[in-house]
Amino acid sequence: MRRLLLAFLLISAVAGAATAPHVTSPEEAFGFKPGTDRKLADWQQLTAYYQKLAAESNRVRYAELGETTEGRPFVALTISAPENLVHLAEYQDIQKKLSDPRVTSPDEAKALIARGKTILVVTCNIHSTEIASSQSAAEFAYRLATQSTPDILSILQNTIIVLVPSLNPDGQQLVVDWYKKYLGTPYEGGNPVVLWHHYVGHDDNRDWYAFTQIETRLTVEKVLNAWRPQIVYDIHQMQSNGPRIYLPPWVDPIDPNVDPVLLQSMNALGMNTALELSQEGKPGVLVDGVYDLWSPARHYMVYHAGLRILTESASANIATPIDIPFDKLGRGIGYDARQSAWNFPNPWKGGTWRLGDIVDYQISAFFSIARNAAEYRERYLNNFYEIGRRAVNRDSGPYAYVIPAEQRDSASTARLVNTLRFGLVEVEQASADFQADGKHFARGSYIVPLSQPYGAFAKTLLEIQHYPDIREYPGGPPRRPYDVTAQTLPLLFGVDAVPVSEKVTAQTSAVAADVKPEPGHFKESTAAAGYEFADKTNDSLYALFSLLKQGVRVERLTGGEFEPGTIYIPQEQGLAEKLSSIANDFSLDVRPVDQNVSGTALAVTLPRIALYKSWVPSMDEGWTRWLFDQKGIPYTSIVDADIRKGGLNQKFDVIIIPDNSPRAILSGGGEREGEDASVGPVPVPPEFRGGLGNEGFANLLDFARSGGTVVTLNKASEIFAQQNSVNVTNALDDTDHKAFYVPGSILEVSVDTKNPIAFGSTPTVPIWFELSPSFRVNGEGHSIASYMSDKPLLSGWILGGDKLKGTSAIAEEPVGKGHVILFGFRPQYRGQSEVTYKFLLNSLLYATSAPHDLGAQSSKSAPQSGVALATAPAASKN
Ligand SMILES: [Zn+2]
Repeated sequence: MRRLLLAFLLISAVAGAATAPHVTSPEEAFGFKPGTDRKLADWQQLTAYYQKLAAESNRVRYAELGETTEGRPFVALTISAPENLVHLAEYQDIQKKLSDPRVTSPDEAKALIARGKTILVVTCNIHSTEIASSQSAAEFAYRLATQSTPDILSILQNTIIVLVPSLNPDGQQLVVDWYKKYLGTPYEGGNPVVLWHHYVGHDDNRDWYAFTQIETRLTVEKVLNAWRPQIVYDIHQMQSNGPRIYLPPWVDPIDPNVDPVLLQSMNALGMNTALELSQEGKPGVLVDGVYDLWSPARHYMVYHAGLRILTESASANIATPIDIPFDKLGRGIGYDARQSAWNFPNPWKGGTWRLGDIVDYQISAFFSIARNAAEYRERYLNNFYEIGRRAVNRDSGPYAYVIPAEQRDSASTARLVNTLRFGLVEVEQASADFQADGKHFARGSYIVPLSQPYGAFAKTLLEIQHYPDIREYPGGPPRRPYDVTAQTLPLLFGVDAVPVSEKVTAQTSAVAADVKPEPGHFKESTAAAGYEFADKTNDSLYALFSLLKQGVRVERLTGGEFEPGTIYIPQEQGLAEKLSSIANDFSLDVRPVDQNVSGTALAVTLPRIALYKSWVPSMDEGWTRWLFDQKGIPYTSIVDADIRKGGLNQKFDVIIIPDNSPRAILSGGGEREGEDASVGPVPVPPEFRGGLGNEGFANLLDFARSGGTVVTLNKASEIFAQQNSVNVTNALDDTDHKAFYVPGSILEVSVDTKNPIAFGSTPTVPIWFELSPSFRVNGEGHSIASYMSDKPLLSGWILGGDKLKGTSAIAEEPVGKGHVILFGFRPQYRGQSEVTYKFLLNSLLYATSAPHDLGAQSSKSAPQSGVALATAPAASKN
């Protein structure tokens, strides 16, 4: 009887499923509607909900694409009509064929376009405090899964939607946890005091060409490259007191590598959505404001024949409503939030603004974009194919870039080729020597022809950027770029890449897999006095750290027959095994040295590194941590309280203060800084206030006086290079923006390669300058790198280059028994400036380098460790 009843229930459930299946709503799942004041679903709840939704609806598929940096599931939902979902591989194949007109004829394309769907990728919540889209996404998916209006059915039939409900699940969870922790306190609705991406915080949306982070790589490989979408809708939030929502058109400048039809298509879709939001009676809609289309750091798809539609909604305090009176609304590039204009016809009247408003705008914008994607399916697919046709038939600019076989750093060269390939750029390798533009290139050189579907992506990464001189008004100050102005990877990586204008005729084969650096070599010799390897590459320094971690005794040679900085390892028991292992892990050539090495050297021991973490989170701190974690460089993170406590010399040899404003470092938080600056003035909890304070700063100086090394990066250097400083001052202290402006460009400096901090460098080096200081060095100070020209620009934008001439980009200031090393640039900029990593790594090694005379019995004399190098060799002064 019981069994019979069960069977009956089962039958009726199946029958029910066929007619009117119950699909759980977000409200049923979470106990509140997405957008409810002070209520947020966290990542655990969201992923559980999406799995349930996919189980209950045949319009939704759930997939975990991999694990995030902190090990959470990274999720994508595929949403379409059930009959489309069973043929996903076929639709991916159509996209692939349409993307390459070299293999797909116009007739074939026509047939494929008739069958294909508009692929719409929706990416949410990359910036974790911009929390609303993580909630809205549940509503997008639920409505698509359950509604059957003609609009929804048309969307399901004509499009395939790939919904990435958070591009940074770790941050989503972090922000919701933080919000709940402080709910009901004076700190409710404030931002976390730590980076909300484990390594890179807000810069997770600056990683779309360097592909350094796990989340970026998963999205590019498994969503964007797998689908090659026609449209990517990327959902953000901005400050509270401007427009209610922004949509394209973008403001100038536009990267000239973006196809003109694609640009017009973004203009048209943005305007159409703006129109539909207005039709719904939503005020405060801005187009053509604030956001430019210059850097591929934020825009992958626009170099891959896809639209990027950005919306930025005004923020609340996370999920807490805020009140904004009309007269507190502000101005920005392209708008005054209190005045109507062609691109902002209906200002918002002010009042209460809440999470639910943001969710409401986002839902409207999403369905508007999806309807448009469905309605103009054929046009989107046609344009997609035609953009590819123009790309493969390009007839201007260089024919190709050649990356010559001979390079200084084979690992950076491999990284460049692999970066291009990860972005679906085809790279060839020459199997014989060849000539191009009258130049000779050796066998093994790489060729990147620009006439290929994604040639624009290759071109923008390989070429020099010429950022236009845009002013706030004629004759006025420079207008701030939305982000930075350059991305020339060959400069940042220290790799030669040569544009050639004539067609290259060479024997080549396609590079079909990731390129590996040259393998390391180790030649064992039991009779050798020791071993040496050159220090020209980053790998050589990573290998050096690896040896130091194993307790191996290492010298950097400073005199005699070897180049300054050469790494010398005296013979010792068990050494061959260790060297064999590093030659296996790194690209380096370890050679035996037969006779005892004579002359001067620096004995190096493993520095005890502290990395300062401000409670005003610094992305530069995160990038530094990322580099160290990638390369196995040991460090300890320290916070304000650790420095205030003192006793630093007992624990550390070197303290790194990453890029941050001097005020943030010395006085701590209270207000926010950066892109999303005005999410409301919520105070920071007391335990995170105050910064280093006078006490901490005094301890830092004491640390140096007692023999420690402090390394300051970019703006952090200003805490030491003050107007009243004795040896090192900031030469740019009094310059105004109209006279001098470099908001993120690549400049050239000349380097004193005999100085231990510049060991292994070329005599001139491209550096990443971003609102940086530059130093005047007097008295006891040393300059290690300086601007020799009044035109130091290599790529990007500069005003007032003459202000830099003769100033210093790296300065060393002796302080008591120790020293401060000041960087006037970002040596490990966003994990990209490979060519200047060595300055940072050398600075760390310098902290524990002791001058040492290698006599005939050098292999027996113990190095002095921990003694500051007061007599650094031949440092130039200016
Ligand atoms: Zn954002």
